[in-house]
Formats: sequence, structure tokens, C-alpha cells
Amino acid sequence: MSLDDFDRHPLLFGPSPVHPLDRLTAHLGGARIWAKREDVNSPLAFGGNKTRKLEYLIPDALRQGADTLVTIGGVQSNHTRQVAAVAARLGLRAVLVQESWVDWPDPVNDKVGNILLSRLMGADVRLVDAGFGIGFKESWNQALEDVRRAGGTPYAIPAGASDHPLGGLGFARWAEEVREQERQLGVFFDTVVVCGVTGSTHAGMIAGFAGQDRPRRVLGIDASARPAETRAQIEKIARDTAARIGLGRELRDEEITLLEGWAGERYGIPDRSTLDAIRLTGSLEGVILDPVYEGKSMAALIDLVRDGDIPRDANVLYAHLGGQPALNAYSGAFA
Ligand code: PLP
Repeated sequence: MSLDDFDRHPLLFGPSPVHPLDRLTAHLGGARIWAKREDVNSPLAFGGNKTRKLEYLIPDALRQGADTLVTIGGVQSNHTRQVAAVAARLGLRAVLVQESWVDWPDPVNDKVGNILLSRLMGADVRLVDAGFGIGFKESWNQALEDVRRAGGTPYAIPAGASDHPLGGLGFARWAEEVREQERQLGVFFDTVVVCGVTGSTHAGMIAGFAGQDRPRRVLGIDASARPAETRAQIEKIARDTAARIGLGRELRDEEITLLEGWAGERYGIPDRSTLDAIRLTGSLEGVILDPVYEGKSMAALIDLVRDGDIPRDANVLYAHLGGQPALNAYSGAFA
């Protein structure tokens, strides 16, 4: 089997754009920094990394005759918003279990941003009182059962579309897309920086890049504040995806790198370094990052370049995975 043997339902505009961040590069004084923009990858509700993953889950859902996509995330989940958009596009229903993963005081937290978008796209949004966790949940099983009892055919999509047999394929394909864009641009990205929480974005990249001739560093940046769990999930999905796409060898441990230190104390709560990174990238580049994910991975990139862990002659590709709608729920952080 290879990646090309898997059915894919196109949901993106095409390859996501790649461009240099020249003023950030000059500001940091070393390492040429580029971004690949999953935040503008699709016409569906602002897109993002989940839309790319869903390209491989949707054919499976349609094959099974599903009429309802059932998934789970936090109140400001980008993932559930993207599932709602894809369901709308395909004429399916969406049931979204939204758990209170983040204890954030903004009074409009459960009214604006992602959850607002999901509601206006017609999803059945269910607020549930349960804490952060990337595993399988009782409330999610209940939602699946509710759909069945009402005579529907649910398709279960786990948090972040990650712990699913097809969850890593979208970003294995991203790795192929990068190789083609490198050929067109005449550049080689020796370092990739990517945020990780439910794991299949980073894991898919690892599996995809592992099949290419030229080695590179794929630096995952933990934003879960539970790095042991996240690392275990990334390893599992990376190894599974590598086998699925016919890599033909085991992944080596050193191919799986998840760095910690930028997640702050808890998932979903921006650290000082997160807010600084958001302001810096916004003011130098006009590129908007969110306080839950991308602000944290950018804070890591900035420190790694400043400290020389990423060498001055490196070409760095920052994977911008989306997430800006959540900013509306975090206005207090920027007051
Ligand atoms: N960045 C954004 C904007 C996200 O919505 C997510 C989702 O969790 C991530 C990064 C992390 O990706 P993953 O869950 O595949 O590790």
C-alpha cells in the first residue's frame, strides 16, 4: 500500500501556500523562516489542519452510509468547527460534544468564535461538563447512541481526528506537498516546527517525511501540557501511519521529537511567551496566531532560533495550523 491507494475527498483549495516571514527572520537575526498556511487552506469555515485530515476520513464515512458526523472537543475546539463545516458541505448532520476543557473566565467563551460558527452552520452543539483529555469519552459514546436510537447512521470522529486508523494520512500527504513546493521554490526546509496536542498532525508528517531521501528535523511543540500522553499518542499514530502507507521500515526513536516548555501550566491557557509570540508575529508580519496552539509553537520557534538550537543557516518551515477563530474568546488576554 502507498498513500495514493487511499481514497481522498478534496476539501482544500489545493496545496496550502508557502511564503517567507522576512521581517521575523530579520528580527531574530538568524535562520530563514517560512510559513505553510493551513489557516487558509480551504473554502470551508476558515479551514485548518483538521480539514486536511478529514479528506481521508470522509470517503470512509460515505462508504459506511453515514448521515451524521459525531465528534468531540473543547468549547472552543477548531476541530469540531471544521467537522461542522465539512458536514454542511456534504449535506450530512453534525453532532458536536463540546467539553469544558479550559477554565477560562471570558464571559463570552461559549458564545463566540468557533462555537458560534458551528452553531450557525447548523450543527447540533452539546455543551458537556468534563475536563481536558484526548481519549475516548462517555459523552461521545452517548451522542453516537442518540443518533442510532433516532434511526440515523453516525460516523465517529475522535478528538482532533487523531486516534483513528486514517487520522495520520492527511499530514503524510502534507509532507509530499512540501517536497513538491520545495522543488518549485528551489529551497530545502531542513527544520519543520509544528504544534502537537492530539498528535496526528505531527505524526502524519513524521511518517510522510520518513519516506523521503533527505532527512530533516520535524520538531513537535507540545501545547497539551501533558507531554507524556501526547508523545505516546504521536508515536503510536506515526508508527501506524508509516506501516499503513508502506514505509517498509520501523520509525527510529530519533525521528519522533516532541519538545516541551512552551505549553504553559495548562492546555488552553496562554503563557506570557504565547502572548509575546502572538504580538510579535502580528506586528512584524500581519500574520495572526491563536493563544491555544500556534502562539505556543511560535514561542518555541523564537526561543530555539534565539538560543541557536536551530542554527543560523537553517531553513525553517513553520506549520501554521489555523485556530484564529478562538481569539474572539480570549479578548481578556489582550486587554
Ligand atoms: N493547531 C491548531 C490550530 C489546532 O486546532 C490543533 C488541534 O488540536 C493543533 C494545532 C494540534 O494538532 P493535533 O491535535 O493534530 O496535534
